[in-house]
Amino acid sequence: MIITKHTFQEGETLTADICIVGSGPAAISMALSLDGSPLRVLMLTGGSWTETIANQDLYRGSVSPAGSHESLEENRRRQFGGTSSAWGGRCIPFEPIDFKARSWVPDSGWPISYDDLLPHYQKAAELCQIGRYEFDAQAAFPHSKREILEGLDSESLVSYPLERWSPPVHFGKTYRAALENSANIHVLMDAHVLALKTENDSSTVSHVTVSLGGITLSVKANKFVLATGGIENARLLLASTTDRYPTGLGNQHDNVGRYYMVHFSGVYAEVKLYDKAKLMADFERDNGGVYCRRRWWFPEPTQEAHKLLNTIFFLYHANTTNGHRDVLFSSRFVAKSVLSILSQKSINRVVSKGKELLPSLKEHAVNVAKNGFFEIPDLIKLGLQRMAKRRLPYLLPSKRNDYWGLYFQAEQAPNRESRICLSSSQKDAFGMPRAEAQLAFLEADIESIVDTHTLFVQEFRTKNLGEIRYVEADLRQYLKERIDTYNSASHHIGTTRMSDDPQTGVVDRHAKVYGLTNLYVAGSSIFPTGGHANPTLTIVAHALFLANHLKVNHKNKEMSYS
Ligand SMILES: Cc1cc2nc3c(=O)[nH]c(=O)nc-3n(C[C@H](O)[C@H](O)[C@H](O)COP(=O)(O)OP(=O)(O)OC[C@H]3O[C@@H](n4cnc5c(N)ncnc54)[C@H](O)[C@@H]3O)c2cc1C
Repeated sequence: MIITKHTFQEGETLTADICIVGSGPAAISMALSLDGSPLRVLMLTGGSWTETIANQDLYRGSVSPAGSHESLEENRRRQFGGTSSAWGGRCIPFEPIDFKARSWVPDSGWPISYDDLLPHYQKAAELCQIGRYEFDAQAAFPHSKREILEGLDSESLVSYPLERWSPPVHFGKTYRAALENSANIHVLMDAHVLALKTENDSSTVSHVTVSLGGITLSVKANKFVLATGGIENARLLLASTTDRYPTGLGNQHDNVGRYYMVHFSGVYAEVKLYDKAKLMADFERDNGGVYCRRRWWFPEPTQEAHKLLNTIFFLYHANTTNGHRDVLFSSRFVAKSVLSILSQKSINRVVSKGKELLPSLKEHAVNVAKNGFFEIPDLIKLGLQRMAKRRLPYLLPSKRNDYWGLYFQAEQAPNRESRICLSSSQKDAFGMPRAEAQLAFLEADIESIVDTHTLFVQEFRTKNLGEIRYVEADLRQYLKERIDTYNSASHHIGTTRMSDDPQTGVVDRHAKVYGLTNLYVAGSSIFPTGGHANPTLTIVAHALFLANHLKVNHKNKEMSYS
């Protein structure tokens, strides 16, 4: 049942067996998994059906040093469905190596393994609507070419790993009916949690304080699950201080908010092929029409031998295309920029977004006007594919271009000094301290990106498949500039990391917060390392894993009472 209009009184207390805070992919996946169970579940959404200025404002925060991270409200959505209302839909599972302790990556190693998550990954694939859980291109498309670029694959560099694309699923819209029809799941719209409270200073969370349409409620539950996203999970724990936990819940060892990680991605190197017929860089579609695309990856032995962080490459738009910009890319840029300006929710934001985008917008619009005429049929076709229910994920570069950009997405190494903390001066409309991002990269992050490029370039040059533009010193400069103006693309990882040792983690292998008997965390904040994969498929798989644990736990308790 979804409760939109309520008759609650100021100070009233609601009760549940499990209270889930949040309504993004993590929270909704858990709720769906608990549907039909004997547990009474109450989900607190922290937003409305759609984005509102007031709710987005709750996400504002600060960034230190300025510019080193996007504004904190930019890549998150405080609404029903959470950030899945804006996500792109790229789905990739973590690989077995991501869960292992690697001697060359300090603080690596999850307490759980890939095999623990595997059954839940399969169910997560269903929820994300990405077809069969098959990420090996050679098994998924046995009749297609075997490599992205014929002749390049080797023992140390392979191109069979696939990414699969969700339509993309908006978890709020897609699963609203299932939640409405549920007898044991209650969803409270516009309910914002302000703090988690322990009674008599015990180690049990007794209730959360909730703001709902101008009144304050308490929600009591046997168990609480925080599923408010990678930044907000840490913020809520840090803001919930008690006499026993003066620096926040779960923060006995000063780990909450620390080890904040993102993915380092970009396009620097560019390749020109001697024989374009050897290339297979298009999207492929499976039987259900799911868009899939291949990527280059360095298998475990290569990562170990060269002490690399997990990294992938695929072909994308080059930064320079024979001195000209790609018309398809420019058209997309113009369309997206205009929509982005028009979708701003206040005049001030329209003006500031316009100012930010205007120089590039002009450049791309001139390119479309000058060179776009012959590409009009392609543009119309691609426009229609982008508007389809299962949409084309993104525009690939035109086949007419000589140069392709080499897109990389790399793991960031765990780093205690990279963190989310509370602002000492800024508060939101409810009086809660705002979050502050202090994202910090290590030398190892840069060196691994340089080394993976060097390895790729060596393989490419040895096989004599084309030209590659690559100068190591320029890559370093490019990476430095990206660090100074970083955009996380919403991959917010590690701030309540999982560990078997309370000294080095915030949650245990069951995602239960250390020091508290009944508080759990779901979402990418629990990932101790981030791999190269976009996080949502793993967020959903882990949320299902956690829901299963809570169900089993409940059943065992009932059996021990009977
Ligand atoms: C433009 C864009 C593109 C993306 N593309 C991809 C992609 O291709 N692949 C991929 O894997 N990921 C992608 N992502 C990231 C993806 O959206 C997130 O990983 C995912 O939504 C995280 O799920 P979550 O449930 O943990 O958090 P969220 O989706 O952020 O949900 C958090 C929920 O918590 C609620 N909440 C917050 N604070 C409170 C509070 N105090 N009280 C109550 N409720 C609260 C919010 O209202 C929201 O419902 C993209 C993100 C963006 C912005």
